[in-house]
Formats: sequence, structure tokens, C-alpha cells
Amino acid sequence: MARRRSKELLELAEEIGGEEAVEVVKALEKLKEATDEELAEATGIRVNTVRRILYLLNDEGLADFKRIRDQETGWYYYYWRLETKKLPEIVRSKKMAELKKLKEMLEEETSEIYYWCGTEGHPKLTFDEAMEYEFQCPICGKMLMQYDNTKIIEDLKRRIEELEIELGLRKKPRRSSRKK
Ligand SMILES: [Zn+2]
Repeated sequence: MARRRSKELLELAEEIGGEEAVEVVKALEKLKEATDEELAEATGIRVNTVRRILYLLNDEGLADFKRIRDQETGWYYYYWRLETKKLPEIVRSKKMAELKKLKEMLEEETSEIYYWCGTEGHPKLTFDEAMEYEFQCPICGKMLMQYDNTKIIEDLKRRIEELEIELGLRKKPRRSSRKK
């Protein structure tokens, strides 16, 4: 598997099932095809957990299995393998969702002025809310000042731009056109 693809897959695995899912995916990359028990053995993760992770991966379209019946015992064995055909699509739709969230955050930051006492963890209030508290922090009582969110807005804009470039929605700016 190409390195970039593998990295994306591992990142998704982590989102889906944490560090244990990463281990299962790594083991599957190596073994190509394996039963849940073989994977449990390879990773040292309990077989029930391995199974749960495999079903989660399957739900996301990242793992598939084939069922094979043992001729002698009549038991069924499930052979799992990674499925990466849908990976680019999944990665893209996750990025689109993130982009949407960032745009909403930007909208929120730019459409409203916030008031804040300056202490980390204390609430940032809208004008109406601040009025209600007579411009005093509801936690510490300090005076609320207009909160400067310029840095947050710049940061959000930068992340939106990066994502849009990654998604091919925006052209990469040329260095030469960026001179000041
Ligand atoms: Zn405060």
C-alpha cells in the first residue's frame, strides 16, 4: 500500500477505534488476510475487542471479510482484509465536514462581538449576555472587555484555506504573487 494511503488509513483507524484499531489495521496490512483470532494473537488485543474493531472498520467501508466453511468441522471462519477502494472518498468527505465546521466557527467569530474578563476558561459572552451581567464576569466579577478574536479569525481563515487547497477547491497561491 502506498505510504500516503497507509497514513490516511491509520489516521482514520485511530478516529474510529483509537490506538487498538491502529494496531489491528497495521497487523492486517502485514498479514493481508487474517481471522479475528490470528489478529488477536498478532496484536495482543483481546479477540472480542478485535472483533468489535473489525465491525467498526467494516461499517466505515475500510475492511471486508469472506466466510469460509471448514470441510471437516463444518465451522465457519471469517477471513478479514483491508478495503481501501473507498478510502479517498471517505477522506474527502471527512475533510469536507471539517471545512464546513471551520466555516461555521468563522461565521460565529465574525458575526458576533464577544466580551471576556481575560481569564482562561471563563465564559465569553455576547453583548446581550454581557449586558445582563452588567459587564462583569459571572465567575470572577472582573470587568468584561471586548474580546479580541483577530488571531482566532486569522487562524480559522488559514486552516480553511489549507483545507480548500487540499480539496482542490482553491488554487495554491504562487509564492511570487505573495510579495508585500
Ligand atoms: Zn472571569
